[in-house]
Amino acid sequence: MDSGTKGISVSGKVEISGNAFGRISKGHLWIFKNEVKAISEGIRDGDIVDITFKGRFVARGYYNSASQIALRVLTFQPEPISLTFFKNKIAQAIELRKLSGLDIQGSYRLLYSEGDMLPGVIVDRFQTDKGTILVLSIMTLGMERLKGLLIEALASSIKPLAIVEKSDTALRNLEGLPPFRGIVYGTLEEKEFIIEQDGLKIAIDPLGGQKTGFYFDQRPNRLALAKAVKGKVMLDVFSYTGGFGLYALKSGALSVEFVEESSKAIELLKINLKLNKLEDRAIIYQGNAFTILRNLRAEGRIFDIVNLDPPAFAKTRGGLEGAYRGYKDINIQAVRLLKPGGILATSSCSQKVSEEMFQQVVLEAASDNRTYLQLIYRGSQGPDHPVLLAMPETRYLKFLMFRVIKRPPN
Ligand code: SAH
Repeated sequence: MDSGTKGISVSGKVEISGNAFGRISKGHLWIFKNEVKAISEGIRDGDIVDITFKGRFVARGYYNSASQIALRVLTFQPEPISLTFFKNKIAQAIELRKLSGLDIQGSYRLLYSEGDMLPGVIVDRFQTDKGTILVLSIMTLGMERLKGLLIEALASSIKPLAIVEKSDTALRNLEGLPPFRGIVYGTLEEKEFIIEQDGLKIAIDPLGGQKTGFYFDQRPNRLALAKAVKGKVMLDVFSYTGGFGLYALKSGALSVEFVEESSKAIELLKINLKLNKLEDRAIIYQGNAFTILRNLRAEGRIFDIVNLDPPAFAKTRGGLEGAYRGYKDINIQAVRLLKPGGILATSSCSQKVSEEMFQQVVLEAASDNRTYLQLIYRGSQGPDHPVLLAMPETRYLKFLMFRVIKRPPN
């Protein structure tokens, strides 16, 4: 027998409610704590279990009593959770990306957790000047237990130079896991590497201080905005290592002014500008965007385009209400800095903020500034962050691009 098919043993059965069964039957992958009806003896947190309804097999997944999400589905078949299982998941993820036209030898998100029907793990693939580097992030105890198999499968399927683990999301706390960061496969001789995307060279520091990879999710939206930038003066707020602004400069923007608070991100932004010979048309402001936008306004500055790509406020600003205030404030500041007929490009990556809610915030921000907004483009996360129709939680990114029309004075 192929040793790859030898699975982790199943510890027992967990019976779920009718409600949960209905949702799971449609392809949702989570069962909440209060939907667990009975659990066989000897099951420990992180174990592989069979999920049943009225005693019949529904799915196989992992269990954690410490999490509000008690069960996450790994498969709807009674198949072994083995090396072969992981290799198949990786092959399926690559196949899906091929279907959307992505260059699968390039740089992109290779595994997007639930979106790729592999809950609890994210893997980014960086095709660098030195070889392929994978950056792995594990969010759940169940996946932590399967880490060995996952790494072995990634190593044999992708044959990377190295796999770097960067498991430091806040979600890990909820699962009772400490943060972890290190090289888990291969070696890295250098600190910084260069990838190419849409004709731009982009520096990444896979092991570095903060999240110093690259946000692949905004790629289609960067391309959409780049169509409108020729000859324009742009402000790129929450720029990180330059995603939007670099695309704009390359596509003929007159100038881009970047706003970012993280020193590490700015260090890489400077390298990116140099690598692409775009530094002549760039200005960088380091600090708090909320303050910097107010200062620019006080100086009487005006822009053709303002791009906003803030962090997930709903996580960092005390729930939905705080997020609402944060988005509204920053969007008001942005609209104030736009000339009539200018372009507002505005994003929200808070999963908890719905598209409707986000549109409402932007509408209020525009209305407070006596402006109307005309939609040019509506975007979401790129196809390397697949959305499960049965699981709205897999969709998080909202991107809206408007022309701003000043309301005539009355
Ligand atoms: N637009 C980027 C990604 C932005 S991620 C791209 O296309 O790649 C959000 C960024 O906002 C992070 O780099 C973070 O450091 C920065 N940030 C968070 N809070 C900030 C604040 N109050 N002021 C300025 N930058 C902030």
